[in-house]
Amino acid sequence: MKNLYIDFDGVIMDTITSSYQMMQEIGIDGKDYSKVVNFYKNLDWKEFLEEADEIHDAYKEINCIVDSGYFNVNILTHVTSLGEAEAKINFIRKKLHEITIITVPKSIDKTKMVNAKNAILIDDYSGNLKKWIEAGGIGVKFALKEKGKEYPVIDHLEQIIDFVNEVNEVNV
Ligand SMILES: [Mg+2]
Repeated sequence: MKNLYIDFDGVIMDTITSSYQMMQEIGIDGKDYSKVVNFYKNLDWKEFLEEADEIHDAYKEINCIVDSGYFNVNILTHVTSLGEAEAKINFIRKKLHEITIITVPKSIDKTKMVNAKNAILIDDYSGNLKKWIEAGGIGVKFALKEKGKEYPVIDHLEQIIDFVNEVNEVNV
């Protein structure tokens, strides 16, 4: 089985669009990194997650990925506070049972938390994928609009099953 790590924000739940809208409304510049982190630190994540939209059928598709038997499935998500970690773990655990949930402090790279070697990361942020590949992992970009340039792109999580099958066929 291959180790598969799936990002949460912008891949499973559309927390990005709604949080940036909220920031805009209260006059926070989305490019001001420390203000953005502060906003996320102070956010009521429990309430925020209840109102956020799921992207496509993410939970159903993750269950399909688990059922395929090809992957050891983990959610790997950055957090800005213990409250955010707690809210995310409680929220995800209600929807998914047979997966591992790993929360990573925002200041720590995902590759410092888990062993990326030969593992797949599905992430919407290219910066994470770049570091993942440098650490010997396989990066797959989750994007609803853009086409693949630097990284293979998927817009539905269960497409990872076909992606791995195709890679295996090429390597046979
Ligand atoms: Mg993300």
